[in-house]
Amino acid sequence: MLRTILLGPPGAGKGTQAVKIVEKYGVPHISTGDIFRENIKNGTELGKKAQEYMNKGELVPDDLVIDLATSRLLEPDCANGFLLDGFPRTVYQAEKLDEFLAAHDSKIDVVLDIAVEKEELITRLTGRRVCKTCGASFHVVSVPPKQEGICDFCGGELIQRADDNLETVTNRIEVYEAQTMPLVDYYENAGNIAHINGAASLEDVFGDIVKAIGE
Ligand code: AMP
Repeated sequence: MLRTILLGPPGAGKGTQAVKIVEKYGVPHISTGDIFRENIKNGTELGKKAQEYMNKGELVPDDLVIDLATSRLLEPDCANGFLLDGFPRTVYQAEKLDEFLAAHDSKIDVVLDIAVEKEELITRLTGRRVCKTCGASFHVVSVPPKQEGICDFCGGELIQRADDNLETVTNRIEVYEAQTMPLVDYYENAGNIAHINGAASLEDVFGDIVKAIGE
């Protein structure tokens, strides 16, 4: 059983580490950002509502997120745990999540707080390119694909996320500091947070995550 939350600013490497955590521990990866992007792609009502906030780098209102995330946690694949990525993002969401879990005799085992300096986040996010087909992540300088614009893994087209431009990135980081950073204290009080240096190499970050979770 592993019930965990990946906390950290946009660009900290949550998505990349999530892939490795899922592979090692076999829990489903639940990314509210991915769920919203899927809804936008499919043109749903939820997608339309979420898009206007996402494009500005603002948070989607709590009431649109909480039901979405908690109903996902009720699906059978979450019976042996889950990895939450990008949820909760406000203290209110965290409280609602705790209430939901308590009502199901459950709780969060460990919160992984990945920290990276602001300048580095901006460099990472503005240079990020993602595969339209499989979601793999590249970087124009640090992780370039073998062939420009083409995914190494599936041959899909690489695109820049609509919210990875400098203006939106700057706003997303500010929104993180104002609205999501208070969660560090929230989970510090709960006594189940592990601090991870996200500036280290991908392997070292994962090594620290495994130490925090346990084999
Ligand atoms: P992400 O892929 O986690 O960076 O999320 C992309 C965008 O989706 C965010 O900038 C928000 O606009 C929205 N979003 C994702 N998760 C949440 C959440 N838990 N609360 C509010 N907005 C969210």
